[in-house]
Amino acid sequence: MTAPEGAAPTNPNSARLFERASRALPGGVGSSARSVRAGWVPYPPFIESGLGSRIRDVDGHEYIDYLLGLGPMLLGHRNPEVTAAVVKAITERGTVFGLPYDMEAIAAEKVIDAVPSVEMIRFANSGSEAVGTAVRLARAATGRPLILRFEGMYHGWFDTVYWSNHPKLELAGPDDAPVAVPAGAGMAPGVGDSLVILQWNDAAALEKVMTERGHEIAGILTEPMMLNTGCIMPVPGYLEKMRELATKHGTVLIFDEVITGFRLARGGGQERFGVTPDLTTMAKGIAGGFPVAAIGGRRELMQLIADGRYSHSGTYNANVMAMAAVSATMDILARPGTYEGLNARGARLLDGFREVAERHGVEHEVQGIGPVGQIWFTDAPIRTYRDAARHARPDVFTAWWREMMARGVLFHPSQDENLFVSTAHTDDDIARTLEAADGAMGALVAAGVK
Ligand code: PMP
Repeated sequence: MTAPEGAAPTNPNSARLFERASRALPGGVGSSARSVRAGWVPYPPFIESGLGSRIRDVDGHEYIDYLLGLGPMLLGHRNPEVTAAVVKAITERGTVFGLPYDMEAIAAEKVIDAVPSVEMIRFANSGSEAVGTAVRLARAATGRPLILRFEGMYHGWFDTVYWSNHPKLELAGPDDAPVAVPAGAGMAPGVGDSLVILQWNDAAALEKVMTERGHEIAGILTEPMMLNTGCIMPVPGYLEKMRELATKHGTVLIFDEVITGFRLARGGGQERFGVTPDLTTMAKGIAGGFPVAAIGGRRELMQLIADGRYSHSGTYNANVMAMAAVSATMDILARPGTYEGLNARGARLLDGFREVAERHGVEHEVQGIGPVGQIWFTDAPIRTYRDAARHARPDVFTAWWREMMARGVLFHPSQDENLFVSTAHTDDDIARTLEAADGAMGALVAAGVK
């Protein structure tokens, strides 16, 4: 089906800015996830400002924002405490010293206190960097060549992991023996040979590969729940099995908690699911919207950095903005009630979507936990990337996205992304969103969706 004509708000100012930006910036945007190719058709809304749970575009539309910067705005836009802490720090201290300072150790202690498996930590600037460090640390620690990663996950754009994110099924090999497919051109030759690719949520396949090749596998890299092919929950026992197999074969278990960290719980997915990794990457959510990431984990692994066996560097690592933002964010997240509120509003949103889709008779599966989730328009359960590729209906999702945007609710146009709820979202925001969902779902049905 096609989306109803005229559902999207008109955006003449965005159109003008897009034309201008396209002359200077490839695709008119700063990251490909914001591009027309990623689904922002006919062009993305250009943003004027954000405040709390709301974001305004340059054409005067205000949206309830579930894009939340693709995750970092866990505390909503312009959280006053984080903003004040950063302004104070850069006004009174500086920005980048190229030397250690007290705020770095203080922020590190707060993250260690929050995340169960993290005994030591190094800060970085993006999730990609943190994952890049994690996989090299795993190889350095074990002396083994291979990293096991799962189809449908995204772990950043470094050559070592930018494979099989969303491969075309005709290139991806059989279901029980997926092959590594580069997610873009320009990769260093041979890197695909350093990866073992599996479908996620399949404990038997994991056990088989670990039994056969565990002695070669340095690290298992996974999100604790799949959040880059929409939202896919781990099947019961799967993460536990992964932990058991990693321990048995001396493989480093890396949880990529770039999205789940500080979101599913203060201690991230590992706290929420009760499974402890050896290394953890963190980013979105760690710093109230400032660009900060981190890699942390067991002391003996992180100690390789201290020994100089693994060199972790970065001019902007642990800069003053970053540390002020992390510290203030950790203080806010540690307050009693924070996660109760996030979880309650997240559950209301996701349960509400279920109820609305049910009532309108639209085939769907809502997955999510706490303040993150997605609705699949599907005729079959989605447990793996291949389920999504075979059963999910991106055309219906696009129509849903358009109808919701026309009703003042913003999220990413791709079903492979998620809806995020922040601490700034109110019960009223959720109620308005569900009203919009009712209207949007009705419009889909009127256009022939079942
Ligand atoms: N890992 C995961 C799980 C992610 O979702 C992302 C970003 N979407 C990354 C790594 C890369 O993070 P960044 O965009 O900050 O480099």
